[in-house]
Amino acid sequence: MELDVRSLMVVFTVNVLAVSLALPAIMGWGMGPAARHAVLSTLLQGGGWLFLVFSTFWRNQWQDQACSVLAMAGMSASLVLLWRSIGLWTGRPQRAWPMWTLTVLMTLGYGIGFEHYPWRVGLANGVLGLQMLAITVAVSRHSPTTGWRWRALIGLCMTATATVTFWRGILGAFFTEAYPYLTAPHPVNMAAALVSNLSLMLTTVAILMAYREEAERELQAQAMTDGLTGLLNRRAWTERAEALLADAQRYGYPLVAVMLDIDHFKRINDERGHARGDQALQLLSRLLREELRTGDLAGRYGGEEFCVLLTHTREGQALSLDQRLRQCLRLQSAQELDFPLEYSAGLAAMGTQDTTLDGLLRRADEALYEAKRAGRGQVVLAPRHAVETREAAAPAVPA
Ligand code: GH3
Ligand code: MG
Ligand code: MG
Repeated sequence: MELDVRSLMVVFTVNVLAVSLALPAIMGWGMGPAARHAVLSTLLQGGGWLFLVFSTFWRNQWQDQACSVLAMAGMSASLVLLWRSIGLWTGRPQRAWPMWTLTVLMTLGYGIGFEHYPWRVGLANGVLGLQMLAITVAVSRHSPTTGWRWRALIGLCMTATATVTFWRGILGAFFTEAYPYLTAPHPVNMAAALVSNLSLMLTTVAILMAYREEAERELQAQAMTDGLTGLLNRRAWTERAEALLADAQRYGYPLVAVMLDIDHFKRINDERGHARGDQALQLLSRLLREELRTGDLAGRYGGEEFCVLLTHTREGQALSLDQRLRQCLRLQSAQELDFPLEYSAGLAAMGTQDTTLDGLLRRADEALYEAKRAGRGQVVLAPRHAVETREAAAPAVPA
């Protein structure tokens, strides 16, 4: 079978350009930064190959040099962008300037030393191969939030492409006689053309998989979050709170549930408008986020009611948190809303009898109701269970 390397290169270039147009058409313009980098990478790869094909048609030295330099710059930049998109997708972006510096230096070195064939072939293929390996390293890094399948696919493609690229570079630099020119019917050129075509197809599939995974993650986050306040919504909060409660029971650490309800919120809406009411909800949510520790869990339970689970916390610490939050809210609401915002809270510490989240929340809710009844703007501690109170009052005395 005769494979004409130049025809394969032309077919490949047409394919890359088609993919670079098809990807944004499929993904739409609202794609995230990672997908944008990946699409731009494909576009630059297409541009790079277009110039490479042009360079093989022109016999004019100046045109050949200009096209080849642009081709190398485009291919290298395309790899940097793909590398960057993987960093963004996996949530581990790294500083990009060393990669860009490599691209610029390689392009300059290639352009300046164009006359010296072994130098330019060795340099360009060496740097491109290294950048491909950097992508393989980026996809192999531990990333619990992303699937391994698309990362493995990209890693495989990049390793295969890097292998033929290094092969070409070594031949060009050190065995120049054995490797006469880019389109020669040499095994390395055939292998490169086939591997590039295969790699393009599989990398495109991987990019689409990564993009779909990102969209799914976003949808999942949206389904768990309250749109107005950014806190967890009731369903997501309950799910996580149940897990935290089970942990607290299993490992025996203290836990406090707090139900929190803004006072006279209806009046705020009626007198100052819904937008102001929304702002008040956002303010309290923000302060909650700021005041809570990392392990604590805050959610919007509904309307102007919030629920919080304080882990590794006893009643006393929970009461101080309430005081801190109250103070901040008083200060910030006067500054940001032009009226004082107050809330009532019910607080229930987990006891041995609180086997379900429902039970614990019911006690916090009853305490909240007491706080409202007692005049609002205060916190009430739910009474302990009768058995626990008796135990606390009459500790066992050894005989
Ligand atoms: P209390 O002190 O007894 O808690 O009185 P309240 O007025 O705060 O409580 P009530 O349950 O009577 O009113 C709650 C109001 O919260 C009614 C509802 O329109 C309003 N609300 C619920 N969700 C939102 C929201 O997302 N934005 C705004 N602006 N208002 C909301
Ligand atoms: Mg209220
Ligand atoms: Mg309410």
